[in-house]
Amino acid sequence: MITRFAPSPTGPLHLGHAYSAIRAHDMARAAGGRFLLRIEDIDRARAKPEWEARIYDDLRWLGLTWEGPVMRQSERLNIYRQTLAALWEQDLLYRCSCTRRDIEAAVSAPQEGVPRGPDGVVYPGTCRTSGARRPGEPLPDAALRLYMDRIATDCHFDETGEAHRGRQTITRDHMIREVGDVVLARRDMGTSYHLSVVLDDAAQGVTHVVRGEDLFEATAIHVTLQNALHLPVPVYHHHRLIRDENGKRLAKRDDARAIALYRAEGATSADIRRMIGL
Ligand code: GLU
Repeated sequence: MITRFAPSPTGPLHLGHAYSAIRAHDMARAAGGRFLLRIEDIDRARAKPEWEARIYDDLRWLGLTWEGPVMRQSERLNIYRQTLAALWEQDLLYRCSCTRRDIEAAVSAPQEGVPRGPDGVVYPGTCRTSGARRPGEPLPDAALRLYMDRIATDCHFDETGEAHRGRQTITRDHMIREVGDVVLARRDMGTSYHLSVVLDDAAQGVTHVVRGEDLFEATAIHVTLQNALHLPVPVYHHHRLIRDENGKRLAKRDDARAIALYRAEGATSADIRRMIGL
């Protein structure tokens, strides 16, 4: 078994991160497997080296050990671009110049509810024709969307998490109607969370993806991409989210619950485990 923890170095690790990291770590250890780390720093505007350093420090303090080397997404842009170039040459991607506001305006047909997928509203297809690759055109430096109807097939994955345990079926119809043409390369990043996570989990040989329930819906995109790219489909374990005393789930940057803060107040890593029910 190979599991991983994949934080973005855009703020302090909080109790939700601690829960995720400990679950992935303990699951691998219990199975005699390997626990790996990946720094998801493709968002160059928000990722900071000092947050990355603090991630290592907090994880060590929690008593977690991982097998090196740590994978860093910022060092893998050429890998992501190679895959994008291959998809582009197969006419599976198109350039999209829509802003968020263009999309909201295009889908605001008053008569029907607007379908929302894991990435927000389902893209109305505005650029599908105008953004198509011209013969011989190399991979552009632009936002690129996937022609979902050209790759989606009915597929499956196995889930071991609390809320959805068992074999999950993803239908082609769901992907087209309720997820739509997702962005695989953002213009400012040259890649996307979805593409990078899929390529990296495969490159690290991750067999069990342990992460928060908030990413359950995105898994359909990941499994669809794994199938299209002929990559293995890992087992998924989406775990419960850590909530504050009002039942609100901790935000990505809930500094009030930062592990470093509890540390500074004299808590031990055993206290942290107790606080999150582990
Ligand atoms: N980097 C993502 C986050 O910090 C996690 C991605 C994943 O586990 O697939 O939320």
